[in-house]
Amino acid sequence: MSLTVQQHRGNVGLRNGSLLVDGEWRQARSGETWTHLHPATQEEVGEFPVAGAEDVDEAVRAARRAFDEGEWPTMPAGRRAKLLHRYAESLREHADELRGLQALDNGVPLSFGTVYAGSVDVAADAFDHHAGWIDKAGGETLPPYQGGDHLAMTLREPIGVVAAILPWNAPFLLFAQKLGPALAAGCTVVLKPSEYATFAVLRMVELLADAGIPDGVVNVVTGTGEPTGEALITHRMVDKVSFTGSREVGRRIVEASAPTMKRVSLELGGKSPALVFPDSDAGLAGMTAMGMVTLGLSGQACVAHTRALVHRDVYDEFIGAAEMIAASVTYGDPFDPGVLASPLINERQLKRVLDLVERGKQEGARLVTGGERADGDLSAGNFVTPAIFADVDNSMNIAQQEVFGPVLSVVPFTDEDEAIRLANDTEYGLGAGVFTADAQRAFRVSRKLRAGTVGINGFQVEPHLPFGGYKQSGLGREGGRSAYEAYTELKTVLMPL
Ligand code: NAD
Repeated sequence: MSLTVQQHRGNVGLRNGSLLVDGEWRQARSGETWTHLHPATQEEVGEFPVAGAEDVDEAVRAARRAFDEGEWPTMPAGRRAKLLHRYAESLREHADELRGLQALDNGVPLSFGTVYAGSVDVAADAFDHHAGWIDKAGGETLPPYQGGDHLAMTLREPIGVVAAILPWNAPFLLFAQKLGPALAAGCTVVLKPSEYATFAVLRMVELLADAGIPDGVVNVVTGTGEPTGEALITHRMVDKVSFTGSREVGRRIVEASAPTMKRVSLELGGKSPALVFPDSDAGLAGMTAMGMVTLGLSGQACVAHTRALVHRDVYDEFIGAAEMIAASVTYGDPFDPGVLASPLINERQLKRVLDLVERGKQEGARLVTGGERADGDLSAGNFVTPAIFADVDNSMNIAQQEVFGPVLSVVPFTDEDEAIRLANDTEYGLGAGVFTADAQRAFRVSRKLRAGTVGINGFQVEPHLPFGGYKQSGLGREGGRSAYEAYTELKTVLMPL
């Protein structure tokens, strides 16, 4: 299969990338570049600079100046909100173009680009949502506690310079869930997109200037984890690192933040369970879980229900429905409206998924379908056929490790207590699903699950809902008021009367 990348490149207006420092687009002083290969065909898509330590330093200093001397942090609330709402509108107007660029970046098909939580529309809504806090999330006044009359108040002030580091799988939403609250709070930003999803993000950044966001408020360093990301997370002038990505890099960020006590928000991986009870619509549960691990991102989604815990009475019905979804997933050219799922992002990820499938078989799980590299027309791309493992023991690697591919592991259970114990038997705690027709059971079980978001008979990510992880799935929450507050410091000011 050939994607005719060059033709699509012309159609969606993709240009080679640059860094953005203080309003100026330029090449890296490092002289290094990265060539992006399309994950469906390995064709060259385009290139962009790999920022070195000197480039990152200039970008951070630009953000620092914009924070210390610029108008952004102290701009009147109404004006700042108006600019962010204008930007949200501009994103909506450019949605088709951005979806096309994303299809060239990470191979997410156009068919999926409009409907999922990571769509341009949801990103635009996130900017509107966060802009709404600017004139509402202030401090408080507090009475004296121990006697003596005084007036005390708290003020919320922007935290300073934020390093925002993105993964490749949902760049629109995650861009918005970081820059939305950071800019609303009055922070300035140095953004590093993933090297596997850079071009659409660069276009989103261009639109910021068109909406009137001043130069230097958002700066961009393109490149890889080493050297670009490392230079950013270790820079002394960065006040906060806001990161979405793997647990391994999350750990490194916590370490690197220690010397200057940077604030840190982390959105990491997951191994989210779906608990399917005998009174549920097990067919719906099977379609939902398998849909989450195949359609659109091919399971490369942090919160997908990758681990289905299914009551023995509805086990066969659940697997039958999951098989039906597996059989209906289509792969290929992301610009083809009939294509429903993406390739895996790179060869490293392809190898990792195939290795984990092999381990699952060796550990004794029953492979019901899939789990092979796609052949024929698709053989040049990183495609794996949708896999279902049945009779999985929760201690197996396929039940404990984040696969990040189209692989569903199905673990049988007998009673509610066992299901809850299995669900919580993981180092992660990002999402969970409860499938039942019994409302009391739904709430009873939800309260016992150690996960940041629990969906009952369905799952959705929305920008106003706090989203984040328990345990090793992260630190802090994106979305909602707490996300805005995470980009502020709280100051107490008091005066004896
Ligand atoms: P990744 O950790 O490999 O990369 C994420 C970003 O970190 C990239 O921009 C990368 O260049 C950068 N990076 C790598 N090394 C770095 C370093 N030493 N210092 C600074 N930056 C560095 O993750 P990925 O493969 O892009 O994304 C997949 C992971 O993201 C999965 O684990 C997934 O679960 C997670 N994820 C989580 C959420 C969430 O909201 N919890 C959402 C999407 C993805």
